[in-house]
Amino acid sequence: MSVAEGGQAAGIDLARVRADFPILRREVNGRPLIYLDSAASAQRPQAVIDAELDCYRRYYANVHRGVHTLSQESTAAFEGAREQVRRFLNAASEREVVFVRGATEAINLVAHSFAAPRLQPGDEVLVTHMEHHSNIVPWQLACERTGAQLRVVPVTDDGEIELDAVAARINERTRLISVVHVSNTLGTVNPVAEIAALARERGVPILVDGAQAAPHLPVDVQALGVDFYAFSGHKAYGPSGIGALYGRYEHLAAMAPYQGGGDMIRRVAFEGTEYAEPPARFEAGTPNIAGAIGLGEALRYLEGLGRERLAAHERALVGYAAEALAAVPGVELIGTPQRRAGAVSFVMAGTHPNDVAMLLDEQGIAVRAGHHCTQPLMERFGVSATARASFGCYNGTDEVDALIEALHRIRRLFG
Ligand code: PLP
Repeated sequence: MSVAEGGQAAGIDLARVRADFPILRREVNGRPLIYLDSAASAQRPQAVIDAELDCYRRYYANVHRGVHTLSQESTAAFEGAREQVRRFLNAASEREVVFVRGATEAINLVAHSFAAPRLQPGDEVLVTHMEHHSNIVPWQLACERTGAQLRVVPVTDDGEIELDAVAARINERTRLISVVHVSNTLGTVNPVAEIAALARERGVPILVDGAQAAPHLPVDVQALGVDFYAFSGHKAYGPSGIGALYGRYEHLAAMAPYQGGGDMIRRVAFEGTEYAEPPARFEAGTPNIAGAIGLGEALRYLEGLGRERLAAHERALVGYAAEALAAVPGVELIGTPQRRAGAVSFVMAGTHPNDVAMLLDEQGIAVRAGHHCTQPLMERFGVSATARASFGCYNGTDEVDALIEALHRIRRLFG
């Protein structure tokens, strides 16, 4: 294991990173906070908090169309954040970046404006058994409206998706594949470039749910060869209520609006309204201006840490955590994927995951217990809930060691 004692690893200066996050200075139940719930929502560095504050303090005004100074400054910062998202994803153009509320809205937008108009009775949308509810329900809604069907790629006992299983389920009725890049529950990193290649061969568009990948892995939408990519700001150290949808321009240009209102039109008349070009076409109403600016700052922060370096640090850390957890008597890991990022789910014999999470909280350790919005996956593994430890740029092996020690104490309590 390449994670050194104390959590210093692969070029990440953990003491400095932790100092960037003011919330990590607080105590919970008299103990220093150990935050292992970044998959639900990460914490924000001071730079992101400052960027939002600075917007409200110095130059906030509504964006676009304003001739006055504040509006021009706000617009420049807002559009600058869009350019930052473009760079972060390596999209070909900032016109391919749509600001949305988060991954959920991004997927709903594609289901509504791209998929539903193309779906006929008997057509198929392909997802996997490890999807978050937000990559299941929007497709079910689209299928209900159109008479199409949802098909599901199974998950192996290790918690992985096999390429052959994907290939076997693509047929001439498949209209779209939507797959999670990194599972929020299992931490599995799916082979999305290979799945996208399969999809391309068969002429099927692909959406990737990158909510859990964007904070942890370098993402290059052109190299991955995907048609759509969705992620949320709040899981990537940015504000909540903001996220981005990447869409290949030719798709966006052919899509009808998702919502109607101000900012998404070229000209409105009662005889007929002309819509704006993308991305404005999909951004009806006043956007989350300060949120977008905060998101831009969060992505800059991640770039500053070095995305490859951070991914290496986290890969080692999550591997260390999985190994250490599996060695605790009575603990069973849910899923043992070969490539893992961000999260480890486990259950403890004789103890409900909620009790584990509550007892850990008493010791200042924040983990999440529940179905993690992946109920079909829970059913697949024969559990109703798991405890999940998830990691971010500020976590180190010292915190994993504290978690393991605490679990041993809980084990003794129940033993
Ligand atoms: N997809 C995955 C894999 C997630 O983990 C989440 C959130 O947990 C979402 C989608 C939905 O993200 P949001 O709630 O930010 O829209």
